[in-house]
Amino acid sequence: MVSSEYERRIAARFATFDQDGNGYIDREDFFGAAKALLTEFGVAARSDKGQALYGGAEAFWQGMAGIADRDGDQRITREEFVNGAVKRLRDNPDRFAEIARPFLHAALDVADTDGDAAVTVDEAGRVLKCLGVPEEMAAPAAAELDADGDGKVGEADVVPAFARYFTVPE
Ligand code: CA
Ligand code: CA
Repeated sequence: MVSSEYERRIAARFATFDQDGNGYIDREDFFGAAKALLTEFGVAARSDKGQALYGGAEAFWQGMAGIADRDGDQRITREEFVNGAVKRLRDNPDRFAEIARPFLHAALDVADTDGDAAVTVDEAGRVLKCLGVPEEMAAPAAAELDADGDGKVGEADVVPAFARYFTVPE
């Protein structure tokens, strides 16, 4: 049984990926998210961190396209997303974590302005917003990431949480 709540959540995840809102997910959406992160944290695209982020965005896009772009037109339609990505990612959340990890790692590096390999809860919320998570969900989601309450969020917190958010349970 497919509930309307489930449908609604799928639509929200699609909208998160479809950063420019043109109705399909493609490379530009991933690069758009990278660009938004660099702007938010004042990091130059040509810097090492900037280049790592774009590399991670490309890998993330290639991984998603490999899973979901059935007709190979370099676009993931809503139908391809629902019938390909969502089912396959739900069956294998580890695979999604693997695809997203280089990008998330680079995103945290961009947000980690003092270089202590962790970001504050506030910075994590700004990262989530740049990735298209709706504003009202970004701050609470970031606070949840800080499970031990020390005010810092690291990669070990972010990758599984991101995978959970996108591998929508039925
Ligand atoms: Ca798009
Ligand atoms: Ca396609």
